[in-house]
Amino acid sequence: MELREIKVKTKCDNGACRNMADYVIYRQDTMSSQSLRLCKECLAKIAELAKPLKTKQKSPKTTQNKPKTTAEPLGKKE
Ligand SMILES: [Zn+2]
Repeated sequence: MELREIKVKTKCDNGACRNMADYVIYRQDTMSSQSLRLCKECLAKIAELAKPLKTKQKSPKTTQNKPKTTAEPLGKKE
């Protein structure tokens, strides 16, 4: 994903927002017509909202290990 300043006049993709878009977020494998265009206000707000999510995603190995089949030691009688 890339974030770039938008060069054409177009509306912010946030439906409720009536600003003109200032930035475009696009993926390499996506057509430019499908990219996300946001004004700087919405972008900043989304970034704020995403902050706690980012830190969550970074924490490594939150996935639980599969329960190991406890191999019981056979013939260990003393
Ligand atoms: Zn906006």
